[in-house]
Amino acid sequence: MPFDKMFESQLQALKDEGNYRYFADLTRRCGQHPRALNHHDGETREITVWCSNDYLGMGQHPDVVEAMASTARECGTGAGGTRNISGTQHQHLELEAELADLHGKEAALVFSSGYVSNWATLSTLGARLPNAVILSDALNHASMIEGIRHARCDKTIWKHNDPADLDAKLSRLPANATKIVAFESVYSMDGDIAPIDEICDVAEKHGALTYLDEVHAVGMYGPRGGGVAEEMGLMDRVTIIEGTLGKAYGTMGGYIAGSAAMCDFVRSFASGFIFTTALPPAIAAAATTSIRHLKVSDIERAQQRRQVARLRARLDAEGIPHERNPSHIIPVMVKDPVKCRMLSDYLMDQFGIYVQPINYPTVPKGTERLRFTPGPRHTVDDIDHLVRALSSLWKQCALARASA
Ligand SMILES: *Cc1c(COP(=O)(O)O)cnc(C)c1O
Repeated sequence: MPFDKMFESQLQALKDEGNYRYFADLTRRCGQHPRALNHHDGETREITVWCSNDYLGMGQHPDVVEAMASTARECGTGAGGTRNISGTQHQHLELEAELADLHGKEAALVFSSGYVSNWATLSTLGARLPNAVILSDALNHASMIEGIRHARCDKTIWKHNDPADLDAKLSRLPANATKIVAFESVYSMDGDIAPIDEICDVAEKHGALTYLDEVHAVGMYGPRGGGVAEEMGLMDRVTIIEGTLGKAYGTMGGYIAGSAAMCDFVRSFASGFIFTTALPPAIAAAATTSIRHLKVSDIERAQQRRQVARLRARLDAEGIPHERNPSHIIPVMVKDPVKCRMLSDYLMDQFGIYVQPINYPTVPKGTERLRFTPGPRHTVDDIDHLVRALSSLWKQCALARASA
């Protein structure tokens, strides 16, 4: 086919740059996380996953699994329609009430994924609010960028985590603009955390709406898992909090939480909410169970923090360079796409350690990295094995060590 030649030539360019994506073929086994099976060249073996976004292992928590299985047996698999046409199940409304409570908001609205919630909400706000201008942090996630693009309103990009630059950019906007400040709490590639209080100060000074993506924080920060805004006591100052059910909550879906009027507005106008099949009730029930569990249980969060600190200390002892940040994400910088891929392959082949190389366009060229996410179920032995493996590869590949 002539078209295949077009496809293949672009894929070849990716391969030449070292940026072609190879997916690891895995089977997760309930109760074994972070252990999983890896299928490769007709063989299957057990490996340890070091880059899962099921940060706390909730996707295999017995109560969460039971909620999904029993709801599927009671209600069947699919929701049977869009939310508008027969798809709204009681489980969706329970989940939305649970989320509103989690964030101390009047209401919440659930979407198919976090990606869709960002895309649909920002595009609807930007397109429909009068004279909207979206002010977007320079390192915002692709789902926010695509939503903003689709809004076709004015937009301004402010320097990453820089409230002074945001202030300067807001000052230049006309008085009649509806200003929307879009940012994240935990940035997942560098693991740094936004100064939410200062950003809210600036936004309030200019009468701007704040939109905060807490995807990498919900379930994991704050006494009830409400995210960094909960931990810092700032939830009521953020206009809209967005999150996912697919990472720490271990299921699938995305949401926004905020005022009843705002949720009703997005429910009524967002194409990405309206014209798609509602989440299966079994998934909604599992997500509700997971949120409820993490509202009252701190064991998983505390153990995760211990293992994150332990891995950092062990990397320091071996001089393996990693980014310092206040979150649970440990980026080990390789700064070369081919070496990054090679290290990842060696770790998998020789040590049974799975960490996906993070290359362009997920991160800027020259900042390629291995991104480790220790969880409560990684053992001390797992950490020792990982650090020994990295240390031997650092030697083998003559990579630079950090001075202690
Ligand atoms: C993963 C991610 C999303 C998308 O969430 P999904 O539920 O996986 O679609 C949104 N924002 C950020 C910052 C993310 O990392």
